[in-house]
Order: sequence, then structure tokens, then C-alpha cells
Amino acid sequence: MDALQIGEAQVTRVVEFAGEVGLSTEAFFPGSDPHLWQQASDWLVPDFVGPDGQVRTAVQTWLVRSEGKVVLIDTGLGNDKDRPYVPVWSRYHSDYLAQLAAAGVTPEQVDVVVNTHLHLDHVGWNTRLAGRDWVPTFPNATYLVHRADYEFWDPQGPHTPGFGRGNQNVFEDSVAPVAAAGQLHIWDGEQHRIDGTLTLRLAAGHTPGSAVVDLRSRGEAALFAGDLLHSPLQIAHPDVTSCFCEDPARAAESRLRLLADAADRGALVLPAHFHHRGAARITRTGGDFTVSGWAAHSPQQPMR
Ligand SMILES: [Zn+2]
Repeated sequence: MDALQIGEAQVTRVVEFAGEVGLSTEAFFPGSDPHLWQQASDWLVPDFVGPDGQVRTAVQTWLVRSEGKVVLIDTGLGNDKDRPYVPVWSRYHSDYLAQLAAAGVTPEQVDVVVNTHLHLDHVGWNTRLAGRDWVPTFPNATYLVHRADYEFWDPQGPHTPGFGRGNQNVFEDSVAPVAAAGQLHIWDGEQHRIDGTLTLRLAAGHTPGSAVVDLRSRGEAALFAGDLLHSPLQIAHPDVTSCFCEDPARAAESRLRLLADAADRGALVLPAHFHHRGAARITRTGGDFTVSGWAAHSPQQPMR
């Protein structure tokens, strides 16, 4: 597995799923202009969109080694999880832990888990099945979740998420057991410092507590964008929003802020779901953003 070096931090990509999930560009990005996708097809097909217009996506963890600690940014789908409204990922099985081992990390060695938000494809490996119980996969880790997401997705709470059915069972099997084990750290406000290199920043919209991870080390920078970006088309057209966003207008504002920040600071952008090529360099001309290059790192996993 190739690793990216960003200052003194090392970043490795662990891919759990790569392929199509049965959504066309129109279904995935409702209301987006079909001409935008056609015009961009020369660089989006086949890495990000299939020849038949199906979105291609990855589900992955960014493994970061920072200041002697092992940090996981998002934990994918998990094994054995019942997702009645998302058949493509229900009772899913992958060799995720073997991939982590291949990257040199055992579950016991993980110090920090960041959930950029609490959707099913970002918290799955928070827990694993032990007999009849869901237990934390990483027994020594502190798990970081923003309070706005924790409260929004708590089924005992007052909220009715737009994506509620898609996230059926997720809080119960992937979040509550971590809290019960005393390993959940709920953070508040605009930012949370993980260490001298990594800072979580609230970037609400996709979900109320969505966050990005800002990495700064020795003059180099990276932004782990979570689900602010699902397709590189959104870099050129930040107003294009996914069907999974709870507040699309606010998500677009957060996306624009991220793109401007990345371009102005020369930060590498590492979204949660870019298929094939995981990380983009972004430049701006006035208010227009373009991908100026892709980071060279772990090769694409075979499509399933
Ligand atoms: Zn996602």
C-alpha cells in the first residue's frame, strides 16, 4: 500500500468498496444539469462515472499517522450490518481489517477514530459483532463525533432526518455501543484540536454535524473533506449537491469554503468517496475552481 507523506504525517488509503451503487448522475445529484455531466465526460468517465451514466464511488478510510498516533478518518461499512433500505451494503463483508493489517495497523493500535458524520458508510467499522453484541472494533481508541450529529441521529431524539431510513439501525449498532463502552468523545462548537497537526472543523450541511479534518505539518496541508464532495464535478460546480444532503444549500456553502481554503493554502483535498483517484489538488481563478492534479498513492482496487 502506498502512503502519502504530508509534512511529518503519513496518509494511507484503505478502500472497502469501489464501484457502482445503482445511482445515475441524475439520481445521485438531483436537479444537476445533464449537460454539465456530458461536457465533463472526457475526464469523469470511466474513473468517476461509468459509460452508462452510473456514478462510481469508493468507501474508504484515510489512515493517518500523526505525532506517533494512529488515526482513522471514517470507518466505512463494517461487516454483518443489517441495512434494510440499502441492499447493496446490507450484511456486507469485506477484508477491511486485513487491509488495515497490511498497512501495519492492528485494531489495538488505533488511538483515534474520527467519524466525519454518522451516515452508515462512515461508522461501520466503529463496531464489530462479538457473539450477539456489537463491541468497539478499536478497544483503545477515542471516537470523535460532533454533538450536532450525535443528537440528530439519536433515534430517541426529536429529529426526523431526511435520510432516516437509509440510516436505519446505524446509531444502535455503530454509535451507541461506543458510547456505552465509554469511548465516545462528543465535541462541540466550530473546531476540535486532535493534536498539533490535526484539527476537526465543523462544515455543516450534508448533516448538521459534518466535519472536515484539517492537517497541517511543516508547511504542507491536507483537508479530509468527508462528504462535502462526492464527485469531482462538484469542484468545478460547487452548487451541485447530492441526494444525501440534509441541508443542500448549507452543504454547498461549506463546500465552497473548503474549496477556497484548499486552493488558497495549497492543501491536498481528500474526500471520502472519490473513486479510483482519491485526492485532488485544486487551483482557483477568481471564484472558479479546477482540479490541477491528482495525488499519486494506492492504486485502484478492483471493481466489484
Ligand atoms: Zn458518505
